[in-house]
Amino acid sequence: MKDFVIIGAAQAGLSMAYFLKQKQKDFLIIDREEVIGASWLNRWDSLKLFTPTEFNHLIGMPFPAPKGHYPDKYEVASYFKDYVETFQFPIQLNTLAEHIEKQGDHFIIKTSQQDILSKHVIIATGPFHIPYTPQFHNKISESICQVHSNYYKTPDQLQEGPTLVVGGGDSGFQILDEISKNTSETTYFSGSTDIRTLPQEILGKTLWWWFTITGFLSFSKNSWLGKKISQSKQPIIGTDVKSIIKRDNVNVVGHTLDAETECIITATKKLTDVKNIVWATGYKPNFEWIKDLELAKDGYPKHHRGISTTEGLYFIGLPWLHTRGSATLGGIKKDAAYLANRIL
Ligand SMILES: Cc1cc2nc3c(=O)[nH]c(=O)nc-3n(C[C@H](O)[C@H](O)[C@H](O)COP(=O)(O)OP(=O)(O)OC[C@H]3O[C@@H](n4cnc5c(N)ncnc54)[C@H](O)[C@@H]3O)c2cc1C
Repeated sequence: MKDFVIIGAAQAGLSMAYFLKQKQKDFLIIDREEVIGASWLNRWDSLKLFTPTEFNHLIGMPFPAPKGHYPDKYEVASYFKDYVETFQFPIQLNTLAEHIEKQGDHFIIKTSQQDILSKHVIIATGPFHIPYTPQFHNKISESICQVHSNYYKTPDQLQEGPTLVVGGGDSGFQILDEISKNTSETTYFSGSTDIRTLPQEILGKTLWWWFTITGFLSFSKNSWLGKKISQSKQPIIGTDVKSIIKRDNVNVVGHTLDAETECIITATKKLTDVKNIVWATGYKPNFEWIKDLELAKDGYPKHHRGISTTEGLYFIGLPWLHTRGSATLGGIKKDAAYLANRIL
């Protein structure tokens, strides 16, 4: 029987591990993937972080790059690997947690490898779970290549011909940018263009510097300002949306409403020449594998700063676990420190 099991070996899980190790606690981290940093490596190849080095430091070991540098996904994965080696965390990879159930004063974690018993379980499985695509995607002909942004890697994955990118968040616009730059074919954009954008730098300082000094990253989700920010549409950071949608081969078509085999129906047009669709349409949470967990209306667990209503069960890395900074590399240490203090 372990004292603590952490499920998920990315920034949230590793930050919790740091504090447990400091206190010489008996713990094990498990992760379903074969390598450390897989959640970043699985994202698209050209991904650059929107946070510069100085906002990517995990607790106890700085991110190894100069100030002002925007790392790519490989640098993040390599940082995590070095972090694990430096602190010598006990990790079991290739281990998917399939079911968790409380029995008396401990949990039984059924995994793809073995059952693990633990007095406490810390869920650090990330903010994003099931890639979401609208139901009508099932009606679309197999001759059209469909990929969710979760599985999009490079434009080489796509067939020749026009591509429709659906979704006007950070991922949607970054993918639209990459695809439309790499082809002379039409690239349709479906989503709202009525969005706020923020540049990477303002008056010679990074956006995240401004976020920090204004306290933007630290407003609690229960405060008046925190509520306003968390419920409002997030601005697009560091992508020049206006210039992308003005490109000759970019065609803005409004929201995608329905589809019939080879015809995609949008708010402004019926598209009959689309050969590829990239769905940058977000994710749905999935906690069904945790028995008797109390969920809030949004599908995320009920908790206070990561402390669940099930005794002995904790969460870290959820969106707005406490503040806007909660689901960021630089912000996770505050939540981990708080949770570790409360647990220990
Ligand atoms: C496209 C994109 C760009 C982003 N850019 C930035 C940025 O520039 N700066 C920034 O600070 N933040 C950024 N974020 C936000 C955030 O930092 C990341 O989402 C980050 O990956 C979240 O870390 P995490 O540890 O909470 O979860 P994840 O990175 O999702 O890791 C979860 C881990 O849990 C494992 N796991 C999941 N389920 C199970 C299971 N059942 N059993 C065992 N293991 C499991 C996974 O394999 C994974 O290793 C970005 C997010 C996205 C999607």
